[in-house]
Parts: sequence; C-alpha cells; structure tokens
Amino acid sequence: MFDVLIIGCGVVGAATAYALSKYQVKIALIEKENDVALGASRANSAIIHAGFDPEEGTLMAKLNVKGCRMAKDLCRKLSVPYRENGSLVLSFSPEEDRTIEKLCQRGLKNGVPDLRIVEKEELHQMEPALSEGACRALYAPHSGIVSPWDYTLAMAEVAVKNGTELHLSTKVIGLEKLSDSWMVHTDRGDFESRYVLNCAGVHSAEMHNLAAEPDFRIIPCRGQYYVLDKCEGALCTRTLFQCPSALGKGVLVSPTADGNLIVGPDAVNIEDSEDTSTTAEQLAFIRRAAEKTTDKINYRNSIRNFAGVRANSDRKDFIISFAEKGFLDIAGIKSPGLTAAPAIGEYAAELLEKDGLNLTPKEHYDDRRKVVRFKELPPEEKNRLIRENPLYGRIICRCETVTEGEIVDAIHSVIPATTVDGVKRRCSAGMGRCQGGFCGPRVVDILARELGVEQTQILKDKDGSYMLDSKL
Ligand SMILES: Cc1cc2nc3c(=O)[nH]c(=O)nc-3n(C[C@H](O)[C@H](O)[C@H](O)COP(=O)(O)OP(=O)(O)OC[C@H]3O[C@@H](n4cnc5c(N)ncnc54)[C@H](O)[C@@H]3O)c2cc1C
Repeated sequence: MFDVLIIGCGVVGAATAYALSKYQVKIALIEKENDVALGASRANSAIIHAGFDPEEGTLMAKLNVKGCRMAKDLCRKLSVPYRENGSLVLSFSPEEDRTIEKLCQRGLKNGVPDLRIVEKEELHQMEPALSEGACRALYAPHSGIVSPWDYTLAMAEVAVKNGTELHLSTKVIGLEKLSDSWMVHTDRGDFESRYVLNCAGVHSAEMHNLAAEPDFRIIPCRGQYYVLDKCEGALCTRTLFQCPSALGKGVLVSPTADGNLIVGPDAVNIEDSEDTSTTAEQLAFIRRAAEKTTDKINYRNSIRNFAGVRANSDRKDFIISFAEKGFLDIAGIKSPGLTAAPAIGEYAAELLEKDGLNLTPKEHYDDRRKVVRFKELPPEEKNRLIRENPLYGRIICRCETVTEGEIVDAIHSVIPATTVDGVKRRCSAGMGRCQGGFCGPRVVDILARELGVEQTQILKDKDGSYMLDSKL
C-alpha cells in the first residue's frame, strides 16, 4: 500500500512528488502518457511569472510569488535551463497606463520585489525593437524563462531517485473509497493508497467526479504559438507582455531559455481537451496582435508552431482542497501553474501533514541532478569526455550540437527517453532550425539499438505515433 498516490505527472504532479520524496513516505506517480510532461506542462509560454497578475489574497497569488522566488535556486540545483530575464507589461494608451499602475499596486501587495514603472525613453533603451507606440511599461526584473519540460522532468527524476514509483502509460479509470484508504483502478491494475492527489490537469474534474460529488468544471482553453529560430532570439531581452484582458495575459513576445523567440498565445475555449492542433486563422491573429509590440519579427525564421491547453476552471483561484477524506484536489491549475508548481508541491505536503501524514525526513536523500550539455563545456572538458567515451565525439544533431553520448545518456537516464520527442526534450536533438530533418533518422537508429527493438517500433511521441513501416 502507498501513502500517497499522485494522478498525473505534469509539472504539478512532479513538483508534489519532489516535495514529498524528501520524507519517509511511499509514493506512486501515475501518468497515462508514455512520458512525463506531455500535457500543458510541455506546451506553454514557459514564463516564471513575477506574481502581479493574480488577485491579492488568493492562493494563486501566494503560490505564484513563492514559486517565482524558488525557481532560480531550484533550476541551478537541478541543472534546468533558466534565465532571470525580467518582464515588461507594455502600455500603449492612457487607459493602459492605469492598468499597469493597478498591476504594479497589486504586485506590491502580493509581495513582488523591485516592481516599477519605466517611462518611454528608458523603455526603448531597454528594448530597442519595441514599436514606437509603446509609451510606458511595468517592469518586473525577477521574472524568468525556463525549460518547462526539463523543469518537470528534473523534479520527477529526483522523486524517482528517492524511491517514488513512476508508472507511465497507466491511466486511472476508477476510484473506490475503502475504510482508511483508496483503491485506484487503472488500465494496468489496481493500486491502494492512503491519500490520492488529483493532479490530472484538464482531466482533473473527471478525476474529482470519480471520487466525490461534482463540484467544479474545467473549461479547456487552447493557446497557439510560433517558435522562431535562434537568429531571432536576441530580438528582445525581456518578456514583452501586452496589457491583460478578460481573455488572459494576451500575446507575448519572449526569448526562450534555449535561445529561441516565442510569440503567442491566443486563448480559444475548445470542446476536446486533448486537441493541440494549430490553425492558420489563429496563427494569423497572433501575428497581427504581436505587431503592436514589435514589427521586427521575421516570420520566415519560424521553425515550429504548437498549441497547449489550459485547465481553466469555473473558479477564479486554484482548487487545492480535500474533496473527500484522503482525496486532495490540486485542480484547475491554469497559468501561472508552471511558476507556482514547486510552491504547490510544498503546500500539498503541508496539507497532508496537517491531515495526519507523518513527514519524517529521509536519512539518505539525494537531490543532485547532473546533465551533460556538451556544447556548453569548455574545450578541455570536452576533450576529457571524448577520451572517456568516444560517443561524445560524434555530433548527431548539427543544429543544436548534440552528441551521440548525450542521446545515449537520455535513453539510459533515471526516467528514460523511449521516443524521438523524448530524446528531444531531454537533450535538444531535433530542436533546431531543421527540426530533426537531419538527425531524426539517426535518433531512431540509436533508440532502436539502445532499447534493443526494431526501428519500426520507435515512436515519435505519444502511444501510436509510429514513424516507419520498414527498416531505414
Ligand atoms: C497556452 C498556455 C500558456 C501557459 N503559460 C504559462 C506560463 O508562461 N507560465 C506559467 O507559470 N504557467 C503557464 N501556463 C500554465 C501551466 O502550463 C500549467 O498551469 C501547468 O503546466 C499545469 O500543470 P499540471 O501538472 O497541472 O497539468 P498537466 O501538465 O496537463 O499534467 C496533467 C497530467 O495528468 C495526466 N493525466 C490526466 N488524466 C489522467 C488519468 N486518468 N490517469 C493518469 N494520468 C492522467 C496527463 O496525461 C498529464 O500529464 C500556461 C498554460 C498554457 C496551456
């Protein structure tokens, strides 16, 4: 029997497992997909928000500000790409001036440090690519950009290294209350646990309804993006927001932690919460909206479009509370959920402890994580690695300079990459300008060799996404 079973390994499930894995607690992490971070946690703006957006006094405000404060050290400790690049909310009119002043006041009340309004001259010195119409801005110097999938993976890996059982490709299909525990039915057998934590993202209302009376609704809301090649990545230094509206934070232009430029998202409510398709119409809308911020983006350098689905709910705040004895909802975790995740994990641990779970620290807890990023190493270190393992001397992804050694590391890591996109998320092979056009077949070959399977069995991404019908 487990002490805690977590449904869903997005950033929230991973952060919660990470927070709990410090203690002598038996944890199961159950994920329906074949890898971690395949929901909203892989397809978002990747901003560590400062915390001026959420209403004062909400859980969202408290956990956003705390999560932002935690991100820098956590990313350093776990080798996650992160940059504290700061953000600007732009004003283009006297009415928007009032909005940024209101956001500034709210941010100060929420405890966001060093917020200030910058005037036009300073603003345009800070960001020369801004359009002339931008006349003032709210500046939050401590917001950041992160690799969202690596953030999730890193926390999940540390949890697994410290004893958490991760079950991938395992879908929760039923929940049964026993006298002092829950029986969790999955498509791969049953698990008994004293506590069940509902971190199922867009499916969190469905999970809630398996355990308790219906209480809230999830309203899936899709956001689409452009990703531009690294040659556009230096267009701006900070994350450039427009003023928020009823639809959300609006279209942003931002560098990414990997050095690309990202433009988006829109916000469209959809029926099918798994529908991450992109549409020409909405992408055109995003381009038009971003023109207001800057007309300097060269979309001929666009290398990819993608979409993510927000788990918006019919509540204004995050839903983090016991729905039944032993069943904790961590639901409706919309933006800024990526930012808040590490703080949500700690908050969930506090709630469980208050409810009677004994949180005795482990004697041997190892939260180190080292990732070899060959191209970032000094020449002497590169030479040493190649002497030790000649696979580090073979470049497989030319766009991103990723070696065979790094790909093999990813395939044999704590949570192994088993798909082409799993390799991409772990070591960036296929993330560059050609998007795997050159290295894709080589990655398939390496995966097949290392996993001891036929090339035709290798998947691109989720279950069923076969790439080949015969050997290369
Ligand atoms: C377009 C967009 C932009 C965003 N931008 C930002 C941003 O810049 N900054 C920020 O802080 N936040 C942002 N967010 C919000 C952030 O991405 C989310 O709050 C966060 O990723 C939610 O994490 P999660 O773990 O709750 O959900 P998810 O990542 O969706 O994880 C839920 C997991 O549960 C699994 N699951 C579901 N049902 C079952 C089942 N029955 N059995 C087993 N597993 C199951 C799913 O497969 C999934 O892996 C954005 C979101 C979107 C969509």
